[in-house]
Amino acid sequence: MTLANYRQRFFIENAPVRGDVVKLTDAYQTVIAQKPYPNAVKMLLGEMMVAASLLIGTLKINGRLSVQLQSNDDNAKLNWAMAECDHTGAVRALAGFVPSDEWATKTTSDDAFAMLKGGVLFISIHPEKGESYQGIVERVSDNLAECLAYYQKQSAQIPTLIKLATDDVAAGGILVQLLPQSKEDKDNDPDLWDRLSALTTTIKPKELTDLPADELLYRLYHEENVVTPEPSGLQFDCTCSAQKSAAALVQLGHDEALQMLKTHEGNLVLDCGFCGAEYTFDKKAVDELFAQ
Ligand SMILES: [Zn+2]
Repeated sequence: MTLANYRQRFFIENAPVRGDVVKLTDAYQTVIAQKPYPNAVKMLLGEMMVAASLLIGTLKINGRLSVQLQSNDDNAKLNWAMAECDHTGAVRALAGFVPSDEWATKTTSDDAFAMLKGGVLFISIHPEKGESYQGIVERVSDNLAECLAYYQKQSAQIPTLIKLATDDVAAGGILVQLLPQSKEDKDNDPDLWDRLSALTTTIKPKELTDLPADELLYRLYHEENVVTPEPSGLQFDCTCSAQKSAAALVQLGHDEALQMLKTHEGNLVLDCGFCGAEYTFDKKAVDELFAQ
């Protein structure tokens, strides 16, 4: 079976190294088809989806992880962007942007990141049980992979390599981590991490988007003994629902909802930006919501 969207875990035999390769094709296509995104924003969303899928693979939780960008500059043409992945492999992503001629000259994910101007990059983790957690990722550059690798190294004290890439068709990436080494590990193979780092930096973006995980791993580490368990599937999936839309209406308040009904000629439609689903409420449905 060939999976179109997957995460492939790998280990190097007898070495304290683990990693994941992520590949997204139609899940990525579905996301970028939701809005008339400028090209650079598509590239960035693809990378953010891959990043969320890679990072949740490093955690042992049931829940979801999101990678988010939030501008604090009113003149920014990219207002915000977010991508999330949960433990079942469901991914989705969305961005808010201002249409502008400026986008015409922007072609890369780094360009889109820079269009955020001032603002923050952060990771939030929402376990099904227990407290949510949010970590601010230092913007060491306008390159998502560099920022995230730096964050992993600072926050988890785990040397981490991350490479991300997107083109029109697919998004892909790799994450490699050096787990704590015993003295014996270090003595046996003192230049392990230097060697892996040098090999990993030779990856070309085209290889990340085009090559299946096993070919990519062979191309990079064929002199190491790479072990690959079964890949896990990823898929586009949205967590929106009629219930959540109804709850959002209740938050607005009865008067506001009635006003919206009036301006929309009796049918209030809430649509989900992530997947395009529409939830329609007529007068009777609105009244029922507030009668409870
Ligand atoms: Zn949805």
